[in-house]
Amino acid sequence: MKLVVTGGAGYVGSVCADALLEAGHKVVIIDDFSTGNPDAVPSGAELVAGTIDDVIDEVLAAGDVDGVLHFAARSLVGESMEDPAEYWHYNLGVSLTLLDAMRRHDVKSLVFSSTAATYGEPDQVPIEETAPTHPTNPYGATKLAIDYAITSYCNAYGLAATSLRYFNVAGAHGSIGENHKTETHLIPLVLQVAMGYRDKIFVFGDDWPTQDGTCIRDYIHIRDLADAHILALESNVAGEHRIFNLGSGDGYSVLEVIEMCREVTGHSIPAEVAPRRAGDPAVLVASSEKIKRELGWDPSRTELRRIVEDAWAFTQELGDKSHAAR
Ligand code: UDP
Repeated sequence: MKLVVTGGAGYVGSVCADALLEAGHKVVIIDDFSTGNPDAVPSGAELVAGTIDDVIDEVLAAGDVDGVLHFAARSLVGESMEDPAEYWHYNLGVSLTLLDAMRRHDVKSLVFSSTAATYGEPDQVPIEETAPTHPTNPYGATKLAIDYAITSYCNAYGLAATSLRYFNVAGAHGSIGENHKTETHLIPLVLQVAMGYRDKIFVFGDDWPTQDGTCIRDYIHIRDLADAHILALESNVAGEHRIFNLGSGDGYSVLEVIEMCREVTGHSIPAEVAPRRAGDPAVLVASSEKIKRELGWDPSRTELRRIVEDAWAFTQELGDKSHAAR
C-alpha cells in the first residue's frame, strides 16, 4: 500500500514508518520538524517537509494513496495545561484539515494516534475502551474531540478509521528512540541522569493514592505499538471507527521505574520528591484485551526490563554520537 505518515519524524511516527517499510509498504512522510527530528526519518521513506495545512493537498493529489497514519500532534500534558490554544489549533485544527483533504481526494483509510489521556482519572483499572472519557488536561481533550470528528466522518462519509489510545510509550527500535527537543517523559529523563546529563530525577508527588505514593503508568514498547498500527491499517472497515487501547496491562510506579533504571544502568540515579505535576492522573493502566481479541495483537516486549534496556542502549548510542560530533 502507499501510505502517508504525518509526524513521521517524531518518535512514534518514525518507528511506525520504519515498521511499515519493513512490511513492504510505500511511505510518504509529512513533517514540519516543529518537534520532529530529521535524523529519525527512515531511509526508504519519501519526505515532504512542511505543515499539513501547506502540503496535504499536493501529497494526496499525487494519487494512489491507500491510507493515512496521523501522528503529527502536540503531545505533552504539562505544556497543554500552560498553552491550551496551541493544542486546540495544532491537534484539532490540523486534524480537521487532514480529514477534509482525505475526503476531497477520496482517501478512505485512517489510523489515528490517540492517548490514554482521553480517559482522565479512571473509575476502574485496567481501563477498557468503554470507560467514561473525562480528560484531566487539554492534550487529552483535543485527542478526544478528534475522535468525535472521526466517528462522524466514518458514519457520514464512509471513512474507515482506527484510533489507538496509547498508554506510556517507551523503549527504542534500533537507532530510533525518544529524543525530544524538550524532554518531559520519565524513562528518558531518568536515563539522562544515568548518563550524567542531569544530577537527579524529580519524582512528581509521593502522596498519590497508590501503594508507594507515586503515580502508576502502563509502559508499552514502541515496537509492539508499531505492530498494532499495521494490524489496524490492514483491517480497517469502511464506515467504522474502531477504538483500541494499547498498553502492556501492567502498572509500574514512578519509584519502580527508577529502580529498574538503576538495575539496568548500574547507576545510583539520585531521586528527589517534588510537587505533583498539574494534569496527572494517579493511575493509568490499560486493558488491551480488545485489540488482542479482535486484531490478534500479540505484544512480545512487555517486560519493563526489556523496555528500559532498549531505551538505555539507544541513549548510550545517542550519547556516543553527540560526543563524536564534538
Ligand atoms: N514523572 C516524574 N518525574 C519526571 C517526569 C515524569 O515523576 O521528571 C512522572 C509523571 O508525573 C507521571 C509519570 O512519571 O506520573 C509518567 O510521566 P510521563 O511524562 O513519562 O508520561 P505521561 O504519563 O504524562 O504521559
